[in-house]
Formats: sequence, structure tokens, C-alpha cells
Amino acid sequence: MRIKRRKSRVVKIGSLSIGGANPIAIQSMAKCKTSEVAKVIRQVRGLEKAGCEIVRLAVKDSQDAAALKKIKRQVKIPLVADIHFDYRLALEAIESGVDKIRLNPGNIYKKEEVKKVVSGLKAAKIPLRIGLNSGSVKDVSSKGMPDKLVNSALGYIRMVEGFKFYDIVVSLKASDVLDTVSAYKKLAKLCDYPLHLGVTATGSPFSGALKTSVALGALLLDGIGDTIRVSLTDEPVQEVYAARCILEALGLRNSGVSLISCPTCGRCEVDLVKIVRELEEKLEPGAVRFSSARPLKVAVMGCVVNGPGEAKEADIGVAFGKSEGLLFKKGKPVKKIAYSDCVDILLKEMAKEYVLD
Ligand code: SF4
Repeated sequence: MRIKRRKSRVVKIGSLSIGGANPIAIQSMAKCKTSEVAKVIRQVRGLEKAGCEIVRLAVKDSQDAAALKKIKRQVKIPLVADIHFDYRLALEAIESGVDKIRLNPGNIYKKEEVKKVVSGLKAAKIPLRIGLNSGSVKDVSSKGMPDKLVNSALGYIRMVEGFKFYDIVVSLKASDVLDTVSAYKKLAKLCDYPLHLGVTATGSPFSGALKTSVALGALLLDGIGDTIRVSLTDEPVQEVYAARCILEALGLRNSGVSLISCPTCGRCEVDLVKIVRELEEKLEPGAVRFSSARPLKVAVMGCVVNGPGEAKEADIGVAFGKSEGLLFKKGKPVKKIAYSDCVDILLKEMAKEYVLD
């Protein structure tokens, strides 16, 4: 099955193009005060290494806005300034050289103020994200939330278009999965601006990742979405790993290695959970090239009943017996490997033929 993407305009965020036929980009946010420049730079570089492609930074005051200039000089990834309440901070962030501004229509809506921001965006040739949240629409009662989000977005879009500005990205994040899906589906039919997908305030990392996967999965399968963020109450890199998983599961991006493993059962005689965790740790922190690597399927299976079948279908696979496993490559058994060596051997096999840095 191939996903037919919705036709959206192309918008440039720094060196990155989103929308149109461009790959769906992964976003996240730094989670420390933007004026703490060294900390922010560390987080932004970590995010970039994990596969993030756009980073948003909260701009709460003039110190944050000024810090953007220093941060911008030291990172390559496009930076978005997240602005609430005070439109002047958007002007200061533009002055600092950010690549995009996010305004919240719930708290910056006066025509004269928005006009001033749009003039700044035009002069700097950078885009605007109209970023709505269910918590910031005028009537926050959940009844009719999708329509409230869509109507609020459309009103704001028309106001910005009235200033002859069209470099727009839109997001409509609700904390409810069904509201989020419904709102994006409605708006997707009413404009051709690129859509940034996300669910807001999702809860713990586990439930947050699952709720977001359900919502974003439904939208992405319908071809809707040009950038995504998985908002988690966790380290920012975890958001990137979750986003990568969603896009990889739908065949929309390829980070190089797709690790599959069985759930284990009474037939498994090795500590498969430990092996898979170790492999994930070795592969996760940006060890794998993200963009152009060809897909590599690696299977780690707990026994010889179903294991060899799955392992054979993978590029590299192992099916375990009592204390050793049978290594497969491209469907053919290669050799027996000791349980204690299997992580190293699998990593070496991946590095030998494929995509590890
Ligand atoms: S592959 Fe073997 S150990 Fe793993 S779940 Fe299937 S039967 Fe159980």
C-alpha cells in the first residue's frame, strides 16, 4: 500500500523545505530556558543527532529573544521561535535571525500586532506557523472543538493573507485524539498550507507516544501532514525516536535500521529483552545515518519455532536456541553465534554491509 500525500504548498524553513513532495520532517522542542545558551545548544545538537530536523525554542522574554542570535550561530538545524502573548518578542526573534515564527492565535490576535509581525517576516523572508491549541481557543469547552480550532485557524489565515503573506504552516493540536484527527481532516480540505501535526498535553511518555501514534497514524495514512512532533513529558530526544518510529512504521521515512523482535514466550531460553534493549541503546543515540540510508531489517527472535521464519525474511536475523543463536543473512543461515557475543556480532554485521556511522 502506498500513501497518497495531500497536495500542500512548499514552505522553506532555513535550509529545509517542507510540504509538497518533501519528506515529512521531524520536530521537537528544547526543554530549557532559551537564555541558557550552552544548555540549549547541547540539547539542540542532541536532537539533531537523533534525527530531528526542526527545533522550536520558547521565547518568554527579551533575554530569550536575544539568546537566539548566539544559538543560531552555533547550530545548523532550522530554529523556530515560539511566541505567546507579546508580539514584540516575535520581532526581536526575527531580528536574532530565527528561521520561523510560531504565533498562538489564542493570545496574539490584534490585527495591528499581527500586521507588524508579518511585516517582519516578509522582510526576513521567513515563514509563520499559526499554531492553535485546544487550550487556547476562546471557548475551551470540549464541545465542537474541531470546528472551533478550524474556524479560529481559518480566521487567522484570512487575516494574514490579507497582508499578502502566504508562507504559512498551520497546526491544530487538541489533547483529545478524535478532536485532533477531526480538526486536521477538516482543515486539510479547506486550504493547501503545510500542516504540522501533533497532539498536545498527552500525558506520560508511554501513553503520550501511543495517543500521538493513533492520531498521527490516522492522519498520515490519509496523506495529511508535512511535519510532526510527538510531545512527551520526557527528554526531547525521546520525542524524536517516537516520531521516527511512527514515520518508519508507515514507510514514510527510513532511518536505516528497523529492529523487529518477538514478544518472547515459554519457548524462549535466552534473555531476549536484554539483547533488544542493548541493541536499541547502541542504535538509538544518532548512531545510524538518518536520511539516505537504505532500509535494513534486523530480526531478533527467541526460539527456533517461529524465529527462523522471521529471521530469514530480514536482512540480518538471529533465532535463538538454548545458549546460542543461528545467524541469518538475506534469508540464508550463516553460522551459529554465542548468546554472549550476539549484540557485538549483529552490530558488526550491520556496520559491515550497511549504514552505521
Ligand atoms: S519466536 Fe519463539 S520465543 Fe518468540 S514468541 Fe514466537 S514462539 Fe515464542
